[in-house]
Amino acid sequence: MPYTEDRSIWFEGQGLWAHVPAADWQDWTWQLKNRLTTVEQLERYLTLTPEEKAGCLFATHKLALAITPYFFNLIDRSDPNCPLRKQVIPRSDESVISSGEMLDSLGEDSHSPVPGLVHRYPDRVLFLVTDRCAAYCRYCTRSRLVSNAQDYNFHPEYEQALRHIEAHPEIRDVLLSGGDPLLLSDKKLDHLLGRLRAIKHVEFIRIGSRIPVFLPQRITPALCAIFKKHGPIWMSIHVNHPKEATQELKDACERLSFAGVPLGNQSVLLKGVNDDADVMQALVHRLLRMRVRPYYIYQMDLITGGAHFKVDVRQGIEIIRALRGHTTGYAVPQYVIDAPGGGGKVPINPDYVEQITDDEVIFRNFEGKRFHYPLKAVPVQENAGKVMPAEIHL
Ligand SMILES: *Cc1c(COP(=O)(O)O)cnc(C)c1O
Ligand code: SF4
Repeated sequence: MPYTEDRSIWFEGQGLWAHVPAADWQDWTWQLKNRLTTVEQLERYLTLTPEEKAGCLFATHKLALAITPYFFNLIDRSDPNCPLRKQVIPRSDESVISSGEMLDSLGEDSHSPVPGLVHRYPDRVLFLVTDRCAAYCRYCTRSRLVSNAQDYNFHPEYEQALRHIEAHPEIRDVLLSGGDPLLLSDKKLDHLLGRLRAIKHVEFIRIGSRIPVFLPQRITPALCAIFKKHGPIWMSIHVNHPKEATQELKDACERLSFAGVPLGNQSVLLKGVNDDADVMQALVHRLLRMRVRPYYIYQMDLITGGAHFKVDVRQGIEIIRALRGHTTGYAVPQYVIDAPGGGGKVPINPDYVEQITDDEVIFRNFEGKRFHYPLKAVPVQENAGKVMPAEIHL
């Protein structure tokens, strides 16, 4: 069945927690304190399937279970196949390790000059500043270290990392990630952004965060003031399904935008969540309405126990094909595979070019119609010495 939604509705409200004072609900520390982290807590609100129950028990050794009350409200509790439920409630499939899967599928640890700093590309670094998140995504690329369920004992070395950046003038772009950087206190973020801003060759600072989606309450005026002070700070948020685009998220994006933070979105292509052109189109349209530019759709990384989320790359390409030309160009993200072992992000987009010769390029448009664009300029009329008619403007 094609996915349809009421485009005028932006879900909001306290749902199951209607009895909680609004001041608590809107307080991000209340949301963190009241996260659902155990089978017993989940079962208070919904009936877990046997696969989910087994998954929850296994999760303690793989990637912790945690869901904020705010995000839990968005789950359809009567539907075990709810696309939001699949992202945050573990399943027994997580215990199945398939061929090609790796703990560190992007070879991040081997590209780290300092613990927590990944220097893969010539001009930019990935700076992992924490291993904690507001809630945990079952497909997380960094499951090996995030939440510390696997005893990785991640300890970012801020001073060493900053010294590496200072010592390498070729680093002009620093991407803060983790874990979720917005779980750091305002004070720590203020300090860290200030230190980075003070490095002359660092031109571009960005943050990758799913906090606006899991915990929009964290996007406080005080936090926005810090971004404004050290700006421009860019941010990539992580929305996978249109149901995550609530009134609260929209408001949080507005606060960030008004503080001068340009917003992009990264989605992970997930089976049964967003591997569908109609779902993706609804998502990218909602993103634009929230002032968010779709940036990347990721093919899932080959993490251990992730096979049940894997989508055929041909389906991903068809999703991009269904967007390009059929809707606003700003709404079309790049579909990428992060090369296994650590080759960086590589675009995997539909092929529109059929042939290129010295004479011409032959390509198809979004409707499948074929066009020729000549590459060779052959003179067909010689006008030297002639007076051109006045109405021809060359
Ligand atoms: C994704 C990533 C970046 C940023 O890549 P962009 O394509 O510039 O967004 C930088 N470093 C590492 C290690 C990454 O994985
Ligand atoms: S928010 Fe990001 S880092 Fe945290 S669990 Fe989800 S994908 Fe992983």
